[in-house]
Amino acid sequence: MEHHSGGSGTNKNKQMVEQLQRYGVISSKKVVEVMETIDRALFVPDGTPAYVDSPMAIGYNATISAPHMHATCLQLLEENLQPGMHALDIGSGTGYLTACFATMVGPQGRAIGVEHIPELVASSIKNIEKSAAASPLKGGSLSVHAGDGREGWPEHAPYDAIHVGAAAPEIPQPLIDQLKPGGRMVIPVGKIFQDLQVVDKNLDGSVSIRSETAVRYVPLTSRDAQLKGY
Ligand code: SAH
Repeated sequence: MEHHSGGSGTNKNKQMVEQLQRYGVISSKKVVEVMETIDRALFVPDGTPAYVDSPMAIGYNATISAPHMHATCLQLLEENLQPGMHALDIGSGTGYLTACFATMVGPQGRAIGVEHIPELVASSIKNIEKSAAASPLKGGSLSVHAGDGREGWPEHAPYDAIHVGAAAPEIPQPLIDQLKPGGRMVIPVGKIFQDLQVVDKNLDGSVSIRSETAVRYVPLTSRDAQLKGY
């Protein structure tokens, strides 16, 4: 319930961010700023601990990622989330990272979430409306769409930053195609054993891929497979 009591919730959110700094997960000032601005409690289901550093169930066999994973992805994408840039968040779930992206790219930029569970799209929009990212949503620089994220979202391509919040068996080609030269994608790849891969599109259009760390995400799959429990 603490997320209904504005002041103390915001304070606890700040403490969570400070802890991530102390543990060395966050070194970037911009990531500190955005994670302090977007209160995580507004994005977790009622009754779920908001500030504990682990993933939490959000229904539909999906989870909100742990704060340290959100921080890691924001930090890997920081250079590609500057004001005016375009960001795509695939498997946007609760909308937490989409809200962070919109805050970083500002009103001249564009942050797009794509999520294949329509109920999560609807609840993420409600979450965002309560958050500090309500104004980009209203102003149109942030939007969340129902769709199969494996196809990306061609309408606002190419993207400076693409984040994928679910593990793909392999990197979907449409996402590589929709990355701008100079752009970066962060995507968990694998089935049981997964790596968080960092895909940089070079200015000549070639791509460089490296593995950042071992991770565990829910799969990037069809809606049917997900609702059946994979
Ligand atoms: N990053 C989000 C959610 C992570 S869980 C957060 O932290 O809140 C991964 C999300 O990917 C789930 O919401 C799931 O429904 C979604 N997903 C899985 N496969 C998908 C696909 N093919 N297209 C769009 N969304 C997908």
